[in-house]
Amino acid sequence: MTRLADIGEFEAIQRILASRVPGPGVAVGPGDDAAVLRPTEGMRVAATTDAFVEGVHYRPGDLTDLELGARLAAANLSDLAACAATPRWGLISMGVRAETPIATLVDRDRGLAQALRAHGASLVGGNLAKVQGPEWMSLTLIGECAPDRVWTRLGARPGDLIAVTGYPGRAAAGLAMITANGRAAAGAEWWTPLYLAYAAPASRVEFARALAATHAVHAAIDVSDGLAADLGHLCDASEVGVELREADWPDDPVMVRAATERGVDATRWAWGPSDDYELLLALPAEARERAVEAARAAGTPLTILGACTQLETLVWVGRDGSRRELPRAGYDHFR
Ligand SMILES: [Mg+2]
Repeated sequence: MTRLADIGEFEAIQRILASRVPGPGVAVGPGDDAAVLRPTEGMRVAATTDAFVEGVHYRPGDLTDLELGARLAAANLSDLAACAATPRWGLISMGVRAETPIATLVDRDRGLAQALRAHGASLVGGNLAKVQGPEWMSLTLIGECAPDRVWTRLGARPGDLIAVTGYPGRAAAGLAMITANGRAAAGAEWWTPLYLAYAAPASRVEFARALAATHAVHAAIDVSDGLAADLGHLCDASEVGVELREADWPDDPVMVRAATERGVDATRWAWGPSDDYELLLALPAEARERAVEAARAAGTPLTILGACTQLETLVWVGRDGSRRELPRAGYDHFR
């Protein structure tokens, strides 16, 4: 097994670059001092960055190196989707130990590049740094959006519907099942959809772009901390509250089965910390059909969870009509 220490930085970079595929809009690609990019005339630039740190964002062995790279891509793709932007170019920095096999690095890069390519983006540059402690990967993703179609967290109004893609909490449930059963058990089990939600999250890039073209959305955010926390961020930015109805909550038998098996409350996954990389949208009631149609065309599950209110609180309305205020219990790195 060849390690980084055996071949050194420059040979390692050569091996990584050997598996890269050049993408569109790149005048000068990887291997020079800086990438030179050709943006589309009339478009605005959207940029985001996200890092994964060993022991914080992932535990060694929970994911393959390909999956780890793809998941970092998904984290960034999701942020661009939340702006309805089209991903174009990525820059990757990795902190790695000298004893790490070169194959590990090549696989992480390949997983990342493949996930970006699936949405039309390519890696145009990168950097390797030697670390002694935990390893890390940081991706900067640059995209483009039409000036009149940019989504932000600001703009939700009382009466707007709140919609979510996918099934909230599945990433947390998937991680819990991997932790309990080991990664080897994933993939051929009834809880495979939960495992996939964690290991290979869908990026809602195409759905977001199609929906933005219909001007149906007032505000958007991606779910990277957890539904409660991210809904809270959207409400704070827009100065609205939200009423969620239990009766409208998405039916997720796989997650409920996992919760029963693990002896936990499924709503803790659905509501609490879970980096699902799904989209939360606020849209006017008259745009409901457009959103449902765009979701159907993109093959994206979409659920209307409730509506925005004037009172700046998160309220849960039970099937029996009971009402209680919800805590905003998402993930916070520093608490
Ligand atoms: Mg985000």
